[in-house]
Amino acid sequence: MSVNQQAHTGLPYGQPQPGYQGYQQSGYGGQQMPGVHHSQYGAYNGPLPGYQQPAPPQGTLRAPPTSGAPLPTSGAPVPAGQPVYSQFGQGDVQNGIATSAVQMQRPSASQPFIPGTAPTPVSQPATFQQYGPPPTSAQQLTNHMAGMQIGSSTSAPPPAGLGYGPPTSVPPASGSFTATGSGLYTSYSSSQGPPPVTMTHGLPPTSLSQGLSLAQPAFSGPPLSAQRLPQAPGFVPPPCSTGIGPSSYPPTTGAPRPSTMQGSQLPGQALTGLPTSQPNHVSSPPPHPSMSGPAMTGLQGPPPPTHPSQSGYQMQQNGSFGQVRGPQPNYGGAYPGTPNYGSQPAPPPPPKRLDPDSIPSPIQVIEDDRNNRGSEPFITGVRGQVPPLVTTNFLVKDQGNASPRYIRCTSYNIPCTSDMAKQSQVPLAAVIKPLATLPTDEAPPYLVDHGEPGPIRCNRCKAYMCPFMQFIEGGRRFQCCFCSCVTEVPPHYFQHLDHTGKRVDFYDRPELSLGSYEFLATVSYCKNNKFPNPPAFIFMIDVSYNAVKSGLVRLICEELKSLLDYLPREGNMEESAIRVGFVTYNKVLHFYNVKSSLAQPQMMVVSDVADMFVPLLDGFLVNVNESRTVIVSLLDQIPEMFADTRETETVFAPVIQAGMEALKAAECAGKLFIFHTSLPIAEAPGKLKNRDDRKLINTDKEKTLFQPQTSFYSNLAKDCVAQGCCVDLFLFPNQYLDVATLGVVPYQTGGTIYKYAYFQLETDQERFLNDLRKDVQKEVGFDAVMRVRTSTGIRATDFFGAFYMSNTTDVELAGLDCDKTITVEFRHDDKLSEDSGALLQCALLYTNCAGQRRLRIHNLSLNCCTQLADLYRNCETDTLINFLAKFAYRGVLNNPVKTVRDTLINQCAQILACYRKNCASPSSAGQLILPECMKLLPVYLNCVLKSDVLQPGAEVTTDDRAYIRQLVSSMDVAETNVFFYPRLLPLTKVDVDSDTLPAAIRNSEERLSKGDMYLLENGLNIFVWVGVNVQQGLIQNLFGVSSFNHISSTLSTLPVLENPFSKRVRSIIDMFQAQRSRYMKLIIVKQEDKLEMLFKHFLVEDKSMSGGASYVDFLCHMHKEIRQLLS
Ligand SMILES: [Zn+2]
Repeated sequence: MSVNQQAHTGLPYGQPQPGYQGYQQSGYGGQQMPGVHHSQYGAYNGPLPGYQQPAPPQGTLRAPPTSGAPLPTSGAPVPAGQPVYSQFGQGDVQNGIATSAVQMQRPSASQPFIPGTAPTPVSQPATFQQYGPPPTSAQQLTNHMAGMQIGSSTSAPPPAGLGYGPPTSVPPASGSFTATGSGLYTSYSSSQGPPPVTMTHGLPPTSLSQGLSLAQPAFSGPPLSAQRLPQAPGFVPPPCSTGIGPSSYPPTTGAPRPSTMQGSQLPGQALTGLPTSQPNHVSSPPPHPSMSGPAMTGLQGPPPPTHPSQSGYQMQQNGSFGQVRGPQPNYGGAYPGTPNYGSQPAPPPPPKRLDPDSIPSPIQVIEDDRNNRGSEPFITGVRGQVPPLVTTNFLVKDQGNASPRYIRCTSYNIPCTSDMAKQSQVPLAAVIKPLATLPTDEAPPYLVDHGEPGPIRCNRCKAYMCPFMQFIEGGRRFQCCFCSCVTEVPPHYFQHLDHTGKRVDFYDRPELSLGSYEFLATVSYCKNNKFPNPPAFIFMIDVSYNAVKSGLVRLICEELKSLLDYLPREGNMEESAIRVGFVTYNKVLHFYNVKSSLAQPQMMVVSDVADMFVPLLDGFLVNVNESRTVIVSLLDQIPEMFADTRETETVFAPVIQAGMEALKAAECAGKLFIFHTSLPIAEAPGKLKNRDDRKLINTDKEKTLFQPQTSFYSNLAKDCVAQGCCVDLFLFPNQYLDVATLGVVPYQTGGTIYKYAYFQLETDQERFLNDLRKDVQKEVGFDAVMRVRTSTGIRATDFFGAFYMSNTTDVELAGLDCDKTITVEFRHDDKLSEDSGALLQCALLYTNCAGQRRLRIHNLSLNCCTQLADLYRNCETDTLINFLAKFAYRGVLNNPVKTVRDTLINQCAQILACYRKNCASPSSAGQLILPECMKLLPVYLNCVLKSDVLQPGAEVTTDDRAYIRQLVSSMDVAETNVFFYPRLLPLTKVDVDSDTLPAAIRNSEERLSKGDMYLLENGLNIFVWVGVNVQQGLIQNLFGVSSFNHISSTLSTLPVLENPFSKRVRSIIDMFQAQRSRYMKLIIVKQEDKLEMLFKHFLVEDKSMSGGASYVDFLCHMHKEIRQLLS
């Protein structure tokens, strides 16, 4: 019985949970920002209470939270003596997915399930549950109908006499389901040429009241009748498979190491004796004291001379204990300087470098996983299975647990006790992407309709029916797998059990047999007990001088004319239900009436930006097809109307307010697409000043660069979330525009920021248009609330991502799109049992693009262990890094960056030291022993430490850092993986006759050959690096010029040339672009050109210009830290 589950008794959504109020977020104890109300930061980055914590004592910092949190001291008490998950008596039966305690190890040689078959019911008495006493009557009294009421503190009456009946085309309740037609997102790829100029001179006629603050017109009821569109639950494949390309990452092995470039001796790699080679070992100023020369001997211990043939750095493979294997082929290099191996004294060898080939290689790990796990489907029927890596191309078959495309965990086997978790320091977290796009060969979640009474839920904790619920008493009741409460099965849902205790309709019901599915929500899940209107999109275009002059305004208007035909549609609907509206602005706002009955659009100007209102309702939000002529006319006229503008100043907050007010007036949720160019300095609410100051870097005030300069936007964001108003922001800055502040509303509303610095039509148009097209078309849920429930013993305590939280359990998202993740950290509040394991259920309530209210449910079962070795065997380093990066990036809001970096290093050293102490077989202290599943932790961690947020180079602007900080907070595991450790491919190894990609190489300059070209991608940029000695023929084929010197480094695309090499390289780039949520900027880098500095920044195994350590050096440093912890 956990605290949170008791506290859930009332309203699952929207009610503060008393049990959490006392929870103190550890980590970077929030220091209140002077002059800013603390709630701003509480809301900005997670649960409020975490930032109410008083500042920690000077100079100390608590480690990042791991699963070792003390129990909350306040809140609902845990009832004493309540049996929790004890054994179920013999002869009773289990229903649902077998909670097999089988522990899968990675790599798993074989799968226990055959594709296409149901999960084998495992008869395991040990997994049977005993039912605790029934809950108290007070708990059972909870009205589940009221449970989902948003924004209401009173219980809603049952939805008798629905004003709006259930959709007629929805299949009958019992046992029927259809796939979620997640919208038909026709791919839109027509490349726009230069915009045809439609010369419509003059302003729109009639009601143009330029410069006047119009009186608010009398509103006569809702502007547009709510369009109830026929429901279309047909099985429609998901829009496009951006994640998986059939030819991506084919298994390849043994990348030959290119010849080492001359003159690229990496500093800092000498391991012995040369203090000068270690000056920047880890930290930028001040240099880490422990890393200076003499300290390095600690790594080897005196005397330094060693026998080079003795191998050191043995990596323990596969987490197998009790035997230390011989050096693996990839790690077999001798580690000069390991004292314990040199039994006979030898003369001091010359300084030797640690062979980079002898330390764990990301490329090798990725290749191995691909070879071992890419060939067979990942079947989710078994509890606690570690999925293949995100870099492996694999098929998922849902047999009772959510696909790793929806949820990935830092570990799939979690310690039974808080003490163990604390000891290991391994954070327990799940990275959840509730609306993830699936590849076309995987079925989207089925839609389940339980009819008017709504989804079946546990009476007490409100968990939704799922494969882990156990039916008892012949099927008349079920016991909750989360809180053990027993709930009556409603008559309409009753079904008999077969001789194994399984409901006979088990395979007909997604909610009994699958890990992920959707419920059709009833009216009680809707705001104000009313079914929502379809959402609206409002396009809000900056028409100040810079925007007009750069050609941006014309570009946007031209693009919208065609893009509006590709608004998201639900299922097989013929047209999108989404209505659109248009606003332009500089210092004042211009609203447009584009009602279909008008001959010409009408403009209404609001210059009183201090008190924003929407001057028109009827005709502002319209159906595209009905108003097409007027809209096209408007989009033709906008660039002309402002062609001669001299207005350079802009407002920003009033623009968001206007959009939000418009949605409010139309009683719908929606998204604002704001195209903005400058710091909003015009007199208006939310006006900002230029406070950029790079001198703050590496000072205690550096954190202020990440904080918004006013709390105004945080309050505005709160209002937006209440209205379901999601803000996507496209920025086109020519100078500092304070992303940290402007980004607050997009961030807290679940929106997205795109940034195009020094936007130029020729070079940036394609990227911007591709981003815009993807953004407009992508699947998005509106007015969403997400709750993660857990089984007894653990609970969700911390949340990371782009959202808002008004209490400590409900993640509120004005919008949530298919690319966004929410990261949840868990802590123990009780002991877990190996038999029962641990369960998560993520429930997302949202409005889809047709205005239908839905609940998407993802379930995941994890193993629990009493041996630390089992934890380390089942970790996922990519997810761990995703979590640690998000944790650190949030930490910089309130702490000196150096403190954040040191904390990260310390935590990882503790993780590895705990393994060494408790899991590894005894060996000499001179050996670095890493758990097999975490052998890349040092290299990846180093990449996080060297990233622009934590260790910026001189070229990284304050806005860049704020931008990246926000981006990473919503990234999924695949995105952080490639962002921190970019993918680097040698282009001369490209096989033009095959779909396979050349083997990737490690991100180090010494792996590059002057005679080769390379492709490097990190999710934001693609570089093509050209060596000075590349064959002329290749240059001709790729760039269409005769020599290296003729290659233009200002190209933003590769020329379209009709030869196999050009075609193949361009198709690889296209494939990479399709895999990423953003269109990557292509940058051509010629060796020894000045742009090369930018490229080298991404060679993350090397020492960085900003002082970041090389991989080799960092590994040595980690080793030293680990040894210190162990001694
Ligand atoms: Zn329950």
